[in-house]
Amino acid sequence: AVTMINVTKWYGSYQALTDIRLNVAPGEKIVVCGPSGSGKSTLIRCINRIETHDGGRIIVNGTELTAETRNIDHVRRDVGMVFQSFNLFPHLSVLDNCTLAPVKSLGMGAKEARDLAMHFLQKVRIADQAKKYPGMLSGGQQQRVAIARALCMKPKVMLFDEPTSALDPEMVNEVLDTMVALALEGMTMICVTHEMGFARKVADRVVFMDQGQIVEVASPEAFFQAPKTERARNFLAQII
Ligand code: ATP
Ligand code: MG
Repeated sequence: AVTMINVTKWYGSYQALTDIRLNVAPGEKIVVCGPSGSGKSTLIRCINRIETHDGGRIIVNGTELTAETRNIDHVRRDVGMVFQSFNLFPHLSVLDNCTLAPVKSLGMGAKEARDLAMHFLQKVRIADQAKKYPGMLSGGQQQRVAIARALCMKPKVMLFDEPTSALDPEMVNEVLDTMVALALEGMTMICVTHEMGFARKVADRVVFMDQGQIVEVASPEAFFQAPKTERARNFLAQII
């Protein structure tokens, strides 16, 4: 679970997040959308402290993120992240990409890590490519490996930052399908995406951001059919 209470974030003199209040319950799926520069990436990057917030409080699975937090590594282990650019280690095989962190930071045995990796690679339907290197795979395949790699850490929350926006159109669905499957299994998910089909299928709530603020929170049905604000209407008019 994730709780954000009046979170603010500045980049120098530019305020990127203003008074962000968001509660994500265990098992809940949140889709975050909004115009470019509205603070979507900043918001989710604060949740695993890739970015540090300047005001307010962020509590992840019962642990508050603070500058002194010695258990920040602990929090990060529980929070998986998938980026727009797949960020796989190019010099490691698909399998080794998936076993590295469980072995190094969870202290998992090599065999257990391999079995777990193969389990998740099967789930994302790419187990047959386990020996290949990332550069030999398509974008959609690499992104599915990135999802499997994150799952190998057995996270309690998964963050996705536009995981399909760098993909060729024909590869978008194979990645979305694995995300839908993950959602149906009950994973807590916060997904920055403009894929409305995905939002309609799995999102409990859509969070619409503009200029560093959460402007609307609504069910996908309500948000897409009857956005309450002018800003959301303008945004939707552009992405449809
Ligand atoms: P996009 O849809 O383009 O990914 P976004 O909603 O994810 O946009 P952010 O990346 O969170 O937006 O950026 C929010 C604002 O903060 C933007 O105005 C951006 O220029 C600014 N910003 C982001 N990162 C930095 C940084 N490291 N230093 C300074 N400004 C930054
Ligand atoms: Mg972004």
